[in-house]
Formats: sequence, structure tokens, C-alpha cells
Amino acid sequence: MGVVLALAVLLVPGLVIGRQTTDFAAKAKALDAQVIVESKKSPQLLVNLTYLSDMIGPRLTGSPALVRANDWTADKMKAYGLVNVHKEPWLIPEGWERGYATGRIIDPDHGFKLSLASMGWSPGTAGKVEGEVVIFAAKESSELEAFRGKLKGKIILRGAPSKLTPIEEVDKGSLFADGLPKKDKDKAPKANFEGKMAFMKDQERFLQEEGVIAVLSDAGKHLGLLVTTGSWSTGDRPASTKKVASLSVAHEHYALLYRLASRPAPAKTRVELDVSNKFVPGPVKVYNTVGEIRGAERPEEFVVVGAHLDSWDLGQGSLDNGCGSCVVLETARILAKMQPPKRTIRFILFSGEEQGLYGSKAYVKQHEEELPRISAALVHDTGTGKVTGLGWMSNREALAPIMEAELGSIKEMGVTKLCIAGFGGSDHATFDKVGVPGCAFHQEIAGYRFGHHSQADTLDLVREPDLQQGTQVMAIAALRFANRAELLPRSAPKKP
Ligand SMILES: [Zn+2]
Repeated sequence: MGVVLALAVLLVPGLVIGRQTTDFAAKAKALDAQVIVESKKSPQLLVNLTYLSDMIGPRLTGSPALVRANDWTADKMKAYGLVNVHKEPWLIPEGWERGYATGRIIDPDHGFKLSLASMGWSPGTAGKVEGEVVIFAAKESSELEAFRGKLKGKIILRGAPSKLTPIEEVDKGSLFADGLPKKDKDKAPKANFEGKMAFMKDQERFLQEEGVIAVLSDAGKHLGLLVTTGSWSTGDRPASTKKVASLSVAHEHYALLYRLASRPAPAKTRVELDVSNKFVPGPVKVYNTVGEIRGAERPEEFVVVGAHLDSWDLGQGSLDNGCGSCVVLETARILAKMQPPKRTIRFILFSGEEQGLYGSKAYVKQHEEELPRISAALVHDTGTGKVTGLGWMSNREALAPIMEAELGSIKEMGVTKLCIAGFGGSDHATFDKVGVPGCAFHQEIAGYRFGHHSQADTLDLVREPDLQQGTQVMAIAALRFANRAELLPRSAPKKP
């Protein structure tokens, strides 16, 4: 029994209990039905995602395209009837523009052209450069010393090629087992992550000191797909701290380089690289787009519905996270047509997510005073696939019975798991850290492993019916939480 029903039992005498309870359930069901009818009525979701993908294009944090996307989404929110629509500025230390990246094998001298891409916020090379390719296999900071004095002027391969999942298996199973990325399932996720970050920093400093020309990593995907990621640490000016070009190489080409570099001496493998990227002097102003539907009874309390609008730039950012962004817009469009909810529903399209959830971190800092009045933060950020579950970051014991009571009806829509462990890699996690129940949807894979951060993240992979279902789940969940008697129970808030 949910808190709403428990209160009804306590406060309302006799026969009225039954009628009130039924009225409440019937009213909620009627709202669900209205959401579903509205979502099927208009092709707006796909129209929006097509415009965002094809006309605005990839939306790197700090880029003019992302600002255009901020303006366009703000206009959409206004057109749908949202109020308090605005762009909320925050700062990044430096912007970054991708230039070109070419590479070819010159020893053996067949001139094989390598397929590669710069990591985000990587510097370029000093024009056309040549270097010997060596394997660098350190996995923790204590192993770095063994390479001291051996890497000057070298192009290094970061370890052995990845063991890829067979291609016919890539789109099967689930992205997250029990809420955690599969490979980390058996490890303590926090220690694992923090240890890895510390090693990455030590390694970066070491390779720079040793005078390495470039670091090559395996893109780890099939059929020549590349990958990009990358960031800066808080407070860093990346242009002054990053001196070594960092590139991802198509898996098949990386494996070739690894085989060549594994040959015994005196065989040498040499590569020519020419990489050009540009840092944009900062601080650079970037924005989160914000708009809301005011609550009719408790406007000072909120439910946050969010997704990140920024993307990487090898593809169009359609899956990651044009899908989520357009689900948020579509949820706004539908809910704005309905009776105002009890609480305010605030729609936020974050930026800087891909570099470390920086936009949502800026948001909770700027809104510290409001945090105790936010009931939940709901996020859609795993591409186009159907929603199958609600992943909550913490306090699941208290949340589980409430989800069963409030959202039992969405099981019919294929959302069979209403309160499972959430993954940490999106903006809901920022809210959860400061005490606001944070939930990201678990979704079917639906091409996500191919598209994620690669040049295949395009409109082609989008499945409209799945996004329609995602919108229905988002709208229904947001409405239920906004209309609930109480805020959702929270864990102890920590300082942002
Ligand atoms: Zn994403």
C-alpha cells in the first residue's frame, strides 16, 4: 500500500474510504490514458529528433551548435506552453574544436591508412610527425617506472586489442545487469572507478614527462567504428595540462598495429601522424535549457524530467542523447495539454554531461536551496530502446513499495522492473548525490553499443515506437510523482 492510500485509510471514515481510493486510482488511470492518446496523436517527437540530428547536428559542449540547440529547445518549450523557460549559464574552462586526424604505417612501408579519431580535448601533433610504435601495458601506477627513459618520441599502443563480443551477440542481452555495467558487476564500483581515475592521471603525467608523441587506444567496436570520449578535471585548463595527442583507432587497425609492434627486435614499426585540434580560450559560457509546468497546489515543489542535450561529435548525437532530449520535449508537449499537476514539473536539458556530468553539477549548485523540495529526478539516456525498468540510485528499500503502488500499471507497457539498482553515468546521479531520489530508465539495447560515441550515432538507428513508449513512461511517472500526497522519501542529503 502506498502512502497515499495509507493516509486515506487513516483520515477518511467508513464507506468513503473505498470510494476515495477508487476515485484516485480511476483518476490516475484516466490521466495515463490521456498521455497515451496524446503521444500517439502527433509525429512531433520524430520531427524534432530529425531536426536536432540533421539540421543542428552534433552538439559538443562549448560549441556554437550546442547553443543553437539550447535556443531551439527553449523555443519549443515556449511553443508547447511551458513557463519560466530560459537558458541557465555555467562555465567550462576551455572549448575544443576537432580538426583532422590522419595516420599511415610507414614501416613496413606499405603506407596503410589508419582509421582514427582524436579524443575530446586532446591536443593535436606538431604538424606531421613520425614515431616508432611501442606497446605500453602498464595497468596501475606502480608499473609506470618500468617504462622510464624508454618512450621519448614514441607512439604508444595502450595494451592489447580488446576481445570483442561476437558481432551477432552485440545487440543482445541488457546493457546493465542489476544496474551495473556488466564488466564491473563483481567489483566494488566506486573503488574501481576512483582507482582507475587516479591511474589515468598518473599515466597522463608520466607519458607527458617522458616525451611521448601520441597515445593510441583500441576503439573496441566492430567494422571500423571509432569512439570518442575525453574531458578535463575540474579547474584544469586542458590546453596547458594536456600535451600528448590521444587517439582512438578502429579495432581492426589497432590489432594490425599490435601484431606489427609485437614482432621481435630488430623489427621496428613506424607510423606517421598528422593531427590538428584547437582549444577555444575560456572560460566559455554554456547553458542548460530549463522550462516548467507550474504546479496547481504546491508550485514550490518539483519533479525534474531531464536528459542531456550535449553529444559527442563523430556522429549526429541522435542516440546519445538526442533521443532522451526529444523524449523530454515530447513529455513537456503532452503534459502541458493536460490539467496542471499538483507540483511543478521542471524540464531540464543539461549540457556538459559527456565530460563528467558538469551541467547537472552546475545546476544543483545553482539551486541548492530548492533541492529538499525536489521529489525525484528522472532521466532518459540510453538511446532509442524501449524502457524496461526504473533504475534508482539509492534508498530502494523505501522506494520499492511506492513504485509498486504508484506505477504498477506501467508493467503492461513492458516496464517490468520498477525499482532496480541504477547505473551512475548520467545526470540523475548528480541529484541522487545531493539527496534527491535519482532515476534513469533501463532500456533495450537497440543498437546502442554500435552507436554509442561512434560515427554510427545517427538518425538511422532511431526507432520511433520505442521512443513513444519511453515518452509515455516518462510522462506517467512524472505525473504520478507530481500528484502524489508526499514527496518521495529521500536518503540523507550531502553537500553538492
Ligand atoms: Zn548520454
